[in-house]
Amino acid sequence: LASLDAHPEPSVIDVSGVKIGGGNLAMIAGPCSVEEEDRMHRIAEAVSAAGANLFRGGAFKPRTSPYAFQGMGEEGLKRLRDVGHAHGMPVVTEVTDPRLVDLVSEYSDMLQVGARNMQNFALLTEVGKSERPVLLKRGMSASISDLLMCAEYILSQGNMNVVLCERGIKSFDTATRNLFDVAAVPLVHQLSHLPIIVDPSHATGRPDLIPACAMAGLAAGADGVHIEVHDCPEVAKSDGPQALLPEQYAEVASQMRKLAELL
Ligand code: PEP
Ligand code: MN
Repeated sequence: LASLDAHPEPSVIDVSGVKIGGGNLAMIAGPCSVEEEDRMHRIAEAVSAAGANLFRGGAFKPRTSPYAFQGMGEEGLKRLRDVGHAHGMPVVTEVTDPRLVDLVSEYSDMLQVGARNMQNFALLTEVGKSERPVLLKRGMSASISDLLMCAEYILSQGNMNVVLCERGIKSFDTATRNLFDVAAVPLVHQLSHLPIIVDPSHATGRPDLIPACAMAGLAAGADGVHIEVHDCPEVAKSDGPQALLPEQYAEVASQMRKLAELL
């Protein structure tokens, strides 16, 4: 179902009015975790002014350590929705557990399946039954065919609204958090009708490398770019070191929009 044989035209996924794929540029931005309300409003206002059309934030955080901040849960979902919608942006947030799909669907416009859960087949089956579009992130050690098979789990349940995301894969090199696999973008487009976006934030883990990788992703044909933004990265509850400041996001957002017009 994910292949071009099944569906020769590029799919266009509608996320509460925001279209992803088929030449539309998805600009997803927001903090890694949902945080204080006034901070969420500040970040949303800034990214929206810069051109972001989808607002992100995690309320259920898959953390390496069980002692690290795990997210605000339902209160965070509510806050993300209220803030995103107040600034005119549909919201995308991660669901980590099949038992939470109904709850997260209630508050969000798009469900994110994170890299660590790409092959959580029970979760994929459950989001496949949801009405919400799904952002499926590539596992850090997953091949492109693994990624497409995981999309297949969702599609085969009847949910045809899947967007893929290249967010970097494991490598030997510790200079970047992951290795940004830009070739994944044209490769997915050769094999599948599903849109694919890039996430240079998790792919590099380095604010100084995010703009170049965002532009490289778009030049390679990505249908959108996902970037983490925080107004005070030093106090961020998660992923502060890779966050762009709002003014840095505005700069790269303006470059992305210019490039997208040329493509
Ligand atoms: C995230 O989007 O904050 C996240 C945890 O991403 P990934 O699953 O790609 O690590
Ligand atoms: Mn993050």
